[in-house]
Amino acid sequence: MKKPRAARPLGLALLALSIALAPPAHAEWVKRVTDGIMGTRITVELWSEDRANAERAIEAVLEEMRHIDETMSTYKPTSEVSQVNAHAAEAPMHISKELFDLLTTARQYSVITEGAFDITYASVGYLYDFRAHVRPDEQQIRTMLPAVDYRHVLLDARPQTVQFSQKGVRIDLGGIAKGYAVDRGIEVLKSFGITRAYVGAGGDSRILGDRFGQPWVVGIRDPRKGEGNVIARVPLVDAAISTSGDYERFFEEKGVRYHHIIDPHTGHSASKVRSATVIAPYATRTDGLSKTAFVLGPEKAMEIYNKLDDVEAIIVKLDGTVIYSKGMQRGRPDGS
Ligand code: ADP
Ligand code: MG
Repeated sequence: MKKPRAARPLGLALLALSIALAPPAHAEWVKRVTDGIMGTRITVELWSEDRANAERAIEAVLEEMRHIDETMSTYKPTSEVSQVNAHAAEAPMHISKELFDLLTTARQYSVITEGAFDITYASVGYLYDFRAHVRPDEQQIRTMLPAVDYRHVLLDARPQTVQFSQKGVRIDLGGIAKGYAVDRGIEVLKSFGITRAYVGAGGDSRILGDRFGQPWVVGIRDPRKGEGNVIARVPLVDAAISTSGDYERFFEEKGVRYHHIIDPHTGHSASKVRSATVIAPYATRTDGLSKTAFVLGPEKAMEIYNKLDDVEAIIVKLDGTVIYSKGMQRGRPDGS
């Protein structure tokens, strides 16, 4: 019975060989930019101590975002949201827990923003095509406007159903799904053991951790200048930030700017500010709040933001002046 003895040195030799072949410990920032999911640009950047794990984590984030896109996009006729739009006026419809929860969250933001955020904007909103410069006429708006009201979306938790209280109601989660996707992305990264990261989808971003004692710095674009021109740089650690701007998707006709945020009360583009940036712990929250100022105006929106303990905001008014929420005024080094 001398065999086991002989096996030992061989095992040690193999171990030694595998150590020699292993790559040196290598930690680095890894960044991936992907276009085409949710109709926007997805950026994932993270601190990696294991490149293979980092790549798997990024793939998993993108996979999660593709899934959200498949479920929530109104551009995809097969999506769950498109199915809801097609059938929920007829009878209560059973929907996935994920969609039910997001519809519930969306409703909360309608209440907080006094109706400025309203996913049923789409009852009129679907008549706009900003790329093709198409907009509804006054008659079409008048006809469809009664269908715009978040209270038309009836949610029943126990059977997990949604129903529209009347025909003509349409929903679109374009105002909250990207923020939600960013939050999901951060959760996915955490599940891979990542502790420092940035996830961005279009105007919605969230930061996990810091940059080794330094904050991440996110620039807020000047709404009337090119992408590189910023009006402020915001240092962030463990926070989300969303910017809504009237320059994102728009066309002009006879000097009027038609853009992608719709006032649920009028069915027209909501044009009371040029841009609004909201900072809060979660991107679902910042996304749900960032459209408010366009509809309610800068003062009223700031009043709402200032009542929320975990929310800060920077608004660029129509005349180009910038106003800050209470917490940011305290934080400004020159006290201005
Ligand atoms: P982004 O799409 O770049 O994240 P926003 O966060 O500003 O930009 O969201 C704009 C989107 O919100 C629009 O394209 C539309 O899908 C949706 N939307 C427009 N008006 C409203 C509204 N009043 N309430 C909720 N969502 C809206
Ligand atoms: Mg957004």
